[in-house]
Amino acid sequence: MGKFTKPRVEYVSDQAYIQKIMSVNLRKDLHGDEEICPWCHGTGIVITNNPYGLSGDPDKRAGIFPYKHQSLIFCQHCYNGIIHRCELCGEFMPKGRLKHDCEQQRVLDCKATDEKERKLLESAQEFPPEALNDFVMCYYDGYPYNNGYVNDWDSFFDWWDSDCEGKFKRPEYVWGTDRIEMSIDAYDIVEEATEELYDGAYDSISNSSIEELQVFLDDWCKHCGVGDTFVESHKSKVRIPWELYKQESNSLMSTPNPCTHTPLNRFEVEATGLPYYFRREEVPSGLITKTQAKLIKKPISESTQPAAYFLSRMNKGYIPLYSCPGEKLKDCNDIRWERMCGRSERE
Ligand SMILES: [Zn+2]
Ligand SMILES: [Zn+2]
Repeated sequence: MGKFTKPRVEYVSDQAYIQKIMSVNLRKDLHGDEEICPWCHGTGIVITNNPYGLSGDPDKRAGIFPYKHQSLIFCQHCYNGIIHRCELCGEFMPKGRLKHDCEQQRVLDCKATDEKERKLLESAQEFPPEALNDFVMCYYDGYPYNNGYVNDWDSFFDWWDSDCEGKFKRPEYVWGTDRIEMSIDAYDIVEEATEELYDGAYDSISNSSIEELQVFLDDWCKHCGVGDTFVESHKSKVRIPWELYKQESNSLMSTPNPCTHTPLNRFEVEATGLPYYFRREEVPSGLITKTQAKLIKKPISESTQPAAYFLSRMNKGYIPLYSCPGEKLKDCNDIRWERMCGRSERE
């Protein structure tokens, strides 16, 4: 390596050029919360140092960049020399932001969200607490489990009791949900399958053949093992049964229910030899879960043996179903199945 050569210094000060571009009175038509940027004095440009160091420099010191390639660049604080000042707290806002991230703004945003939610709730159709069974899943924004989807009041109250009671106002409702079933479109499949074939291959297949495939696909979707998907819907709201909260939560927390909290996987369910169901529609009338039994005030005792199992997406496994207790079998069927997707399961 040759002898180290220090950079040569040159100063650029082309007065004529700088005069030409800088010696103007820049006009700023300020609107709303716009102000002249104090960093670049409204010019939109600042001097930057672009510092650098050189290897082999006898004066080299770690972390020190003694040389410069100074130039003019756009101001990092503004666009075009204009900056916005927050009208709430009076501070300048970061470049590109039209809304300040400050306490005052957050309070306003919170109020706006609450108001929006209030209006949505007001216009939603109201359902009683038992409707949770019909919806299968309801939604509550703050519920920290299962992405906010609630499928039994016990778990909801359990969470409320440990995390929220006394700290937050009890909400009146949870949102209902829309149910989406898995589906495969036969026409799409056939179209894709014939895309690379001879011209008119698609047209050689009759509509009735495609319908035949659709019937097969519909049936397959029902039994392939994929459960339904539930999506928060603001069309409906379900009242939270706070009247059950104190009595339910106390007994619930002192006696954890092993059956509800340890769902079985498919192999374990098959090993029981009991029937099992993927969908609520398939569950014969007269079979209910422990939570449903509690809702109709006919609790299942710990010693009762399950009669079947049901795939619960929320519990990520199969939960037990019991024969409806008590004599009024028809009553509990009414509660359970009547509003289910507009379909009645009773004979
Ligand atoms: Zn600026
Ligand atoms: Zn602010």
